[in-house]
Amino acid sequence: MKNSRERRQPNIILINCDDLGYGDLACYGSGRNDTPHLDQLAAEGVRFTDFYAASPVCSASRAAMLTGCYSQRIGFADCQVLHPGQAQGLNSNESTIAGQLKRVGYDTKIVGKWHCGDQPEFLPTNHGFDEYFGIPFSNDMGRQVNRLDRPPLPLMRNDEVIQQQPDQRGITERYVNESLQFMRRDRTAPFFLYLAHMYVHVPLFVPKQFLDISRNGAYGGAVACIDWAMGMIEAELNRLGIKNETLVIFTSDNGSRARDEGGSNAPLRGTKAQTWEGGQRVPCIMRWPGKIAAGTTCEGIASSIDLFATLAELTGAPLPVDTTLDSISLADTLLNGSPTRRNTFAFYRRADLEAVRKGDWKLHFCKPEWSTEGAVTKGSPELYNLRKDVGETNNVYDKHPEIVTELEMAAEEFRRMFGDRRLNRAGTEIREAGACQNPKPLTEYDKNHPYMIAYYDLADMPTMSG
Ligand code: MG
Repeated sequence: MKNSRERRQPNIILINCDDLGYGDLACYGSGRNDTPHLDQLAAEGVRFTDFYAASPVCSASRAAMLTGCYSQRIGFADCQVLHPGQAQGLNSNESTIAGQLKRVGYDTKIVGKWHCGDQPEFLPTNHGFDEYFGIPFSNDMGRQVNRLDRPPLPLMRNDEVIQQQPDQRGITERYVNESLQFMRRDRTAPFFLYLAHMYVHVPLFVPKQFLDISRNGAYGGAVACIDWAMGMIEAELNRLGIKNETLVIFTSDNGSRARDEGGSNAPLRGTKAQTWEGGQRVPCIMRWPGKIAAGTTCEGIASSIDLFATLAELTGAPLPVDTTLDSISLADTLLNGSPTRRNTFAFYRRADLEAVRKGDWKLHFCKPEWSTEGAVTKGSPELYNLRKDVGETNNVYDKHPEIVTELEMAAEEFRRMFGDRRLNRAGTEIREAGACQNPKPLTEYDKNHPYMIAYYDLADMPTMSG
């Protein structure tokens, strides 16, 4: 049964991968991974070429996407990657996409990686989601051969841990099953499904059938599994007859680590955790049959931060009152092919403004250099024309002083709002992250517990980071 409201308000499926790089899908130029279902999605919708994750790392990127704010604004400058039992998380005063959609009648569910805080007040069910099923942080944060100090990896339903150290080879199948069960429920309201994949974050435990078809080892198998998930969702949309009233958005939380496990940010420079393009420019495909022109490409600047205002406009959800957002709606771009309205983008790593983009130009100020004492942020400014030089290889800083001045002015506005630690500047528009007293990990190692997979033992384990 479909009422008139349902026809005006689309179902929304937001698929967010973990560490999937710009060059990892065939429709973005990968020659190593086969992604027929995602290529088909792009053929039926719009493919963004200049779409930025809000941050080059996980927690900050996800919190920013869900709130429509730069992670600095919501106090996540020092919550880049939240760890099990950490006292910080997404502040309960912040509005999320799920919370706004709920206000206009949506059923809301997140399946997969949350990573915006694991203490009770930070969990998804306190941030606008009716239901949660998933591993609440990164899949390398459980017990492993090189990390026996860590609590077992939890799998949760709503606010309860239902399994410890689940077999990661079966996780994506379980995520897809949860997603399809949610989609096929008898309902009159539209739904919002946020599927936050575990793949392709390391360690890469992949079912045998995907390894067998991969030309790119375990990494290619994980990408194939993401593509299989898209195929399953697609089949369910067709079976339910709701494909035309469902907006599907596919993206990634940050760029690939691009180490030897098989990921790629080609043709971009840099990796996850960096503010070169490869750290934050990610694949993004959106499809809404009959509304978004099929087979199109959008080359304007856009960001995951913009999903909040976009979905609000498309669904009639209210924007939060008295709360400043950084989100700029893409609705006119999606429905009418208009240019995106975002002209600038700030690249922060932690509390340092490392680069700013305006139009086709990107000005870098600094990068961290690692020593035994930790990271020291330094470097001389570099200027690139991304339209002509997407790989950021030809520094033209000395040739365009007037453009440098213009980008410096844009940077100053970000520094005024969000500060810049390198320059000892404090921001005037920073809200606080959530904080709690006496945080406690969700699980505790019990030597008598029957862990099916007690330890991860991939060969690349010693090189992994959180
Ligand atoms: Mg990530």
